[in-house]
Amino acid sequence: MTDARPDDHDLLDPDETPFSDFLGFELLLEEQDRELLGRVRAFMTREVEPIINDHWTRASFPHEILPGMAELGIAGLTYDGPGCPGRGALVNGLVAMEMSRVDPSIGTFMGVHGGLAMGSIMLCGSDEQRERWLPPMARMELIGAFGLTEPDVGSAISQGLATSARRDGDAWILNGAKKWIGNATFADLVVIWARDEDDGQVKGFVVEQGTEGMVCTKQEDKIALRVVQNAEIALTDVRVPDENRLQRSESFRSTADVLRVTRMDVAWQAAGCARGAFEHALRYTKQREQFGRPIASFQMVQDLLVKMLANVTASTAMNARASQLQDAGRLRDEHASLCKAHSTVRMRETVGWAREVLGGNGILLEHHVGRFVADAEAIYSYEGTREINTLIVGRAITGESAFV
Ligand SMILES: Cc1cc2nc3c(=O)[nH]c(=O)nc-3n(C[C@H](O)[C@H](O)[C@H](O)COP(=O)(O)OP(=O)(O)OC[C@H]3O[C@@H](n4cnc5c(N)ncnc54)[C@H](O)[C@@H]3O)c2cc1C
Repeated sequence: MTDARPDDHDLLDPDETPFSDFLGFELLLEEQDRELLGRVRAFMTREVEPIINDHWTRASFPHEILPGMAELGIAGLTYDGPGCPGRGALVNGLVAMEMSRVDPSIGTFMGVHGGLAMGSIMLCGSDEQRERWLPPMARMELIGAFGLTEPDVGSAISQGLATSARRDGDAWILNGAKKWIGNATFADLVVIWARDEDDGQVKGFVVEQGTEGMVCTKQEDKIALRVVQNAEIALTDVRVPDENRLQRSESFRSTADVLRVTRMDVAWQAAGCARGAFEHALRYTKQREQFGRPIASFQMVQDLLVKMLANVTASTAMNARASQLQDAGRLRDEHASLCKAHSTVRMRETVGWAREVLGGNGILLEHHVGRFVADAEAIYSYEGTREINTLIVGRAITGESAFV
């Protein structure tokens, strides 16, 4: 770690470890993983930060950054399938945090493509399906989406999923509707989770964009993660060949296996969102003067800054330990849920304090913090709300399910 003075942030040398990694978690990484993290940091700082507010305002996706992002080699970072990087969970988490530290929408885009969509194929696909789709997805030549949530059912999806799949010769016929599906307006492959009419089990299907009967309509007027292209999907007699049914997805248990891993990604994204807001807030308080002094010199402002740093550091510590458990093959659902619930609550608190120390400027996009405040609201609710993740942990520690 470099000499970690707060002043370093004003220079924000992308090749250096930022002061906001206060307890030096990056030092836990092997050299090659730190090198990767540094490249992600440089890319996000140089290529994304300067253009992201404009895209956020227009609710457009910066397709122009995809070739550079592909060169980083971070899509499906933890997966060891064909063409995948096969790196550890800790570096995967720190990379997810790094992306969201600069922009939570871009972190979410990669969470959907490299985490949820590639993860579905990695964990639920046959060897042949992995060979077919994972290498071009890892190279980001094919972009993925993950269609689980429906207009009428979100938290209760394991029980209430209504999209149907009916076997018809060597194909399946899908009918139903999905909502909130990130990347779906332009993704090449959309993983659709549907209930088999025969055995009542939830199964995954890879539906190629342009397949007749699948219509993806962009959701407009979001107040959070505006850069992420979320879609409502109408599925009307969509014919999918059996070779596109994820061969190892036999029930919702398979879907849950994917979510356990990606929920950790979201915990890391939340820590990143909080960290980005904190860094912008600290920089601002050193530049803004009131009563003839930088506002950073006031005790009450320092109190908020230190509480923000403590939140970021505590979330990072919790997530880092869970990622180590994941690497050891010991991550349980309740571990990921605790990390997601804790990190998102602390994120929401932190971005609020960051906005507070910016005064009125906190609601202007040009100072970035306002974007983090808005984006935090979506991260707080997706991939399991605080309540749902709390119930998962509560069930684990009491042995009593309190879902209904
Ligand atoms: C920006 C964004 C991106 C998303 N991307 C995707 C995606 O790519 N793919 C995808 O499939 N989905 C995606 N989602 C959907 C997301 O996972 C759901 O929004 C989430 O699961 C919550 O479901 P819901 O919004 O329907 O809320 P609801 O389930 O309607 O919940 C409403 C409220 O009721 C509470 N509640 C529900 N049940 C209980 C209970 N038993 N006890 C106590 N409280 C309860 C909830 O915690 C919440 O506070 C995305 C959502 C957003 C906002």
